[in-house]
Amino acid sequence: MTTAVAAPSAGTLESAISHFSAFDRVSVLSEALPYLQRFHGKTVVIKYGGAAMKDETLKARVVSDLVLLSCVGIRPVMVHGGGPEINTWLGRLGIEPVFKNGLRVTDADTMDVVEMVLGARVNKSLVTLIQQAGGRAVGLCGKDSNTLIARQMIEKDIGFVGEVTQVNGELIKTLVSDDYIPVLASVASDGAGQALNVNADTAAGEIAAALKAEKLILMTDVPGVLRDKDDPTTKYAALSIRECNELVDAGIIAGGMIPKTDCCIRCLSQGVRATHIIDGRQPHSLLMELLTDEGVGTMITG
Ligand code: ADP
Ligand code: MG
Repeated sequence: MTTAVAAPSAGTLESAISHFSAFDRVSVLSEALPYLQRFHGKTVVIKYGGAAMKDETLKARVVSDLVLLSCVGIRPVMVHGGGPEINTWLGRLGIEPVFKNGLRVTDADTMDVVEMVLGARVNKSLVTLIQQAGGRAVGLCGKDSNTLIARQMIEKDIGFVGEVTQVNGELIKTLVSDDYIPVLASVASDGAGQALNVNADTAAGEIAAALKAEKLILMTDVPGVLRDKDDPTTKYAALSIRECNELVDAGIIAGGMIPKTDCCIRCLSQGVRATHIIDGRQPHSLLMELLTDEGVGTMITG
């Protein structure tokens, strides 16, 4: 019996790849050997951003890259946010999203929605996708096993928003050493059972530092840190900590990019070897960053 295999449609990434010969494909695989050797058994924390998570096809591609990394012995840990989906559900429940200085004002009702949407909807949809791609995912939030403990930022008067004070990485370490892919929603506990909303970049950075990860990779919806945030051709390929601080002071790094560069800087000072801000919309950006010399996005180094 013959099995019909659907031909890739013209113009897609798959159709472009189908033109490579079998020899080309194994050559490419073989060129990845030094990277596979370098990163084998190493933990890589990947933050997947709300903004880059909107498109389902893209999401499936990112997840399949993650499963590939796990299959070749790299230990990915995924941390996710989900701002757009939180807004959708707040809207359905008739709760108006309120922001103060770019931060979500999180009253008790909003916190309930944040916890339900991030810890259940967004988290389990990523877990399901990983499972469908053949990976072994375990979905958690920071409350599980007290992985993320935070302090409510009372002085900012924005409700149940926390800053991470402690990371207990034991559960995540156990999972990755057993070849599971932990998928962590950025909801923390205040230590007394109250859920706190924490920025997912910051959460990923703290986890990477606690695990002494090889790399922190922040996937977002821009090509990296841009000199002009509306012009993708103005991307910085690499920045030092000092340069990042200067760009923040000059107002060039602003809004949602601030917690990203901040957490890269904190991670580097705590022993994480490299930090990258990459475009989650670019096909296979994760694999290009890890398995080739082609630096995608912006690398921040010490
Ligand atoms: P995520 O959901 O991935 O965390 P955010 O919206 O929080 O995304 O942060 C990314 C956003 O930061 C970009 O879409 C952009 O609007 C903004 N931004 C501010 N300054 C810069 C900059 N210098 N370079 C790139 N993006 C910037
Ligand atoms: Mg953000």
